[in-house]
Amino acid sequence: FAFSDAMFENLTDRLDSVFKKLRGHGKLTEENIQDAMREVRVALLEADVNYKVVKEFIAAVTEKAVGREVLSSLSPGQQVIKVVHDELVELLGSHEEPLRLDGRQPVSIMLAGLQGSGKTTTAGKLARMLREKGRKPFLVPADVYRPAAIQQLHVLGEQVGVPVFDSTTEDRPVDIAKRAVAEAEDKGYDTVIIDTAGRLHVDEALMTELKDISRAVPLTEILFVADAMTGQDAVTVADKFNSDLEITGVVLTKIEGDARGGAALSVKKVTGKPIKFVGVGESLDALEVFHPDRAASRILG
Ligand code: GDP
Repeated sequence: FAFSDAMFENLTDRLDSVFKKLRGHGKLTEENIQDAMREVRVALLEADVNYKVVKEFIAAVTEKAVGREVLSSLSPGQQVIKVVHDELVELLGSHEEPLRLDGRQPVSIMLAGLQGSGKTTTAGKLARMLREKGRKPFLVPADVYRPAAIQQLHVLGEQVGVPVFDSTTEDRPVDIAKRAVAEAEDKGYDTVIIDTAGRLHVDEALMTELKDISRAVPLTEILFVADAMTGQDAVTVADKFNSDLEITGVVLTKIEGDARGGAALSVKKVTGKPIKFVGVGESLDALEVFHPDRAASRILG
């Protein structure tokens, strides 16, 4: 289990000390629960979790903890811990959400996000992962504003042994997408991975371009790629992309450097869309399927 050690470090420590106090209690009063919740609240806020998410989280846990039937197998403190655990799993997405790859082949996956979030790298990592699973991916560079981005994808394709569509900076992204899907059909590739342009900030021209692609080719996935280190900004931008584009899932990159985990804890609740993968490093094998239950267990130590 190679999940980043850094992620949730801070939160894990904080909750651990709250739970130590709870475990010491033979019997919990409502007041004990309130005290514990106050500390859980501070811990979540310090982990950079969205304040609305924190508020709802605390309300849900308090209600369940206070109203809970006494399970004879658990001490009252353990019961509160269990409620927090279950609520964390819920917050992180309950269960793993696999990529949608069935239906008419080839399927197409579009990666979207701000510049520098890790889209191109993730495209390469995803192609590698899918190829290892026996699929035939096709990488498609549709960032026509930066020649270096097209080149970067060709290099990654070479490294992971996956063919790359031949696009140039003269082409329109929507035409690239259409031609790439047609070529995939011809050549028997089953998974088209479209890497798109990013800007430094959300802008309308970019959104229009991404919407045009999503109308021109049938996409089974629109994955929003976000840099976890940017914390709540990542969540705000995800929310914006989601309302404009109807994303199907999120890839959180650079989580190995994110000790707080605020983005991971907020993004599902804020967007309603699951985290599907996490990027845990720069190398091409540093992509993992996100497991909400494991992440929750990790937080609770
Ligand atoms: P793009 O502009 O969205 O296509 O971003 P790039 O794919 O070019 O990535 C920007 C930088 O982030 C590069 O230096 C990548 O190596 C790096 N990067 C991408 N994903 C990860 C990750 O999961 N962890 C780390 N540490 N770096 C990453």
